[in-house]
Amino acid sequence: MRIMFLMLLCWALPLQAREAFALAGVTVAAGTEASFLVDTAGTQVPITVVHGANEGVVLTLTAGVHGDEFPSIFALHRLRQQLDPAQVSGTVILVHLANLAGFHGRRIALNPRDDKNLNREFPGDAAGSATEQLAHFFTTEIVAVTDYLIDLHSGSAYQTLLPHAYSPVLHDDALDARTLAFAQAAGLEHIVLYDERPNDPVNSISYPNTAQTRGKPALTLEIGHLGQRDEASIEGVIEACQRALRHLGIVSGAPLPQRSARLYSRLAYADSPVTGLFHPESQVGAQVQEGQRLGLITDYFGELLAEIHAPATGTLLMLLETPAVSAGETPATVAVPATSTTTTTTD
Ligand SMILES: [Zn+2]
Repeated sequence: MRIMFLMLLCWALPLQAREAFALAGVTVAAGTEASFLVDTAGTQVPITVVHGANEGVVLTLTAGVHGDEFPSIFALHRLRQQLDPAQVSGTVILVHLANLAGFHGRRIALNPRDDKNLNREFPGDAAGSATEQLAHFFTTEIVAVTDYLIDLHSGSAYQTLLPHAYSPVLHDDALDARTLAFAQAAGLEHIVLYDERPNDPVNSISYPNTAQTRGKPALTLEIGHLGQRDEASIEGVIEACQRALRHLGIVSGAPLPQRSARLYSRLAYADSPVTGLFHPESQVGAQVQEGQRLGLITDYFGELLAEIHAPATGTLLMLLETPAVSAGETPATVAVPATSTTTTTTD
């Protein structure tokens, strides 16, 4: 009798409708999608939820945490068109523009309403400043309902960079391994194993670290730079997201070609000792030796003030491309290779 009951139950399960997905007061039925503006923290957040017809994990893709980083904003427009909820297994949350005030204010990394960097104010505060309230929204409404997260960035308007991924390291072996597999699946050639954030969920500081400290693999991807929205960068973002979607089983399809990736154990920062004009003498992607000169700082008359040298041997990952530099700023960042420098992406 009991066996009979279980058999009937198993028979009945596939007939049960998949539950709707709720986010910020909006309910999205299985096999459908919805695009909407959420009014929160005195601003609006444009979001699309693609709630697949089939069961699976929840992935959040977020663009525009920094309002001057554009390729991912356009990449998410196209992903919205490409994702068919009838074919999706799981749920995809597209946050099209996380920092609308920064975007319309044309501010580099900051929110003009309080001059704060959204990616330094997590987990946020419902009673805090505009940016702290916005961070609180992402913590409680987005991170809380997602299983995996990708925070999409670019170099700022003054910065060039080599496309790369940050794979957070919390020194939790199981979580770190899941996160690195996720990073490798995204297919970027350069992966930084990043442990510069605290492991404390109540002081998580950044958006991806807020997810990571809550046990959810979360990456930062940096693709594009100099305030541009070039096609190659947009396509680069789309490809990385499509690879991640396949890795998580949200989208089916033939595996994409394998990629090799270089792993870096840390970043080494070449800070400027003086204020003046920076003259770069190298380019991102260059292999540099510790002590190698990367550029010069001159005063306002063109006279030499200081030399900038590579703080470590490795790959020049980010470079200041516009001339203004202040003492303590970082004109050049070198990624230091991990002991095992090469890995292989599998889909
Ligand atoms: Zn950014």
